[in-house]
Amino acid sequence: MIKIETGLSLRDFSTFRIGGEVAGLVRIKNEEDLQAFFQLINKEKRDFFILGGGSNVLFRDDYWHRLVAKIENDQKLVFKNEKIICGAGVTLAKLVNYAYEEGLTGLEWAVGIPGTVGGAIRGNAGAFGGQMADSVEQVVAWEWKEGVVKKRTFLYQDCRFGYRESLFKEEKNFLIWEVKLSLNFGKKEAIRKRMAELLMQRKKTQPKLNQFPSLGSIFKNPMAPKEIIALFEKEKQTKVKNHKVPAGWLIEKCKLKGQRIGDAQVSQLQANFIVNLGQAKANEVQQLITLIKEKVWQEFRIQLEEEIEIC
Ligand SMILES: Cc1cc2nc3c(=O)[nH]c(=O)nc-3n(C[C@H](O)[C@H](O)[C@H](O)COP(=O)(O)OP(=O)(O)OC[C@H]3O[C@@H](n4cnc5c(N)ncnc54)[C@H](O)[C@@H]3O)c2cc1C
Repeated sequence: MIKIETGLSLRDFSTFRIGGEVAGLVRIKNEEDLQAFFQLINKEKRDFFILGGGSNVLFRDDYWHRLVAKIENDQKLVFKNEKIICGAGVTLAKLVNYAYEEGLTGLEWAVGIPGTVGGAIRGNAGAFGGQMADSVEQVVAWEWKEGVVKKRTFLYQDCRFGYRESLFKEEKNFLIWEVKLSLNFGKKEAIRKRMAELLMQRKKTQPKLNQFPSLGSIFKNPMAPKEIIALFEKEKQTKVKNHKVPAGWLIEKCKLKGQRIGDAQVSQLQANFIVNLGQAKANEVQQLITLIKEKVWQEFRIQLEEEIEIC
């Protein structure tokens, strides 16, 4: 039996602390909830939105007529036959810690990333040279099409993973339910050390979420022409990968660090983050995004593309 919770603000379901009132929210904890939810959607012809940890979505300020399906199947997290099987509602933090406890290496890069495993699979989350796709063996997802819901299993090669991309992001009619991950055994002490190093690096280079609500990186790192790459490599004394330069570096070069519209501000610490100084509105964030894109285009003739989803 599912319950539609009403009178809620999406602000309370977003790491950005931005968002207006929503028509209703349903917590999906198991397959029965999921089936009941889709029956309701079909019967009432309601529009809906799938929500994980709310760490990659900018919700608008006005009333949302859609129903939110909050994915909370977070009970399944097992290590069996050398594979981790994990519900999409499990937090990435819990998964990373579980892998460490089991002495499995391959997910250290994800330490400190908020959100759920489902959200991370959809956007192929990544950091420090690692990404979800590197460990995925199989994804179980529900597909809905013309009122029919079907459970489907996708092998790694069917998931069409790319840089912050996947089949599930492209097609928009899949609800990621469960994943099977393949990791290698490692030395627990080495895993712990690597996680501590990466967490420290994050702390040094990114604003603290509890002090400065954000959605992480606003833009994807773009491909850049040779002369811009040369400028970056000379300045930073490091080589770029796949012809991409950090969006944050371009934004910083445009002298936009600290730029503010209302309570939305380009982070002083990491220029690819926009932080909420308290009462930021979605439209202020959008104005800031437009301004950043314009300035980067004027300065470098590079078109930035959002990594976050704007709803
Ligand atoms: C401080 C901070 C640091 C961050 N650092 C990184 C980083 O280093 N690397 C990185 O890649 N990201 C980073 N992020 C962004 C974000 O945490 C990740 O993209 C995360 O994986 C999103 O997961 P989520 O559960 O919060 O997704 P949500 O924000 O809830 O949703 C994002 C999108 O995924 C969809 N979705 C969610 N769950 C499902 C599901 N089960 N099935 C189908 N669709 C679903 C939603 O509909 C939405 O379109 C950071 C964010 C913050 C705030």
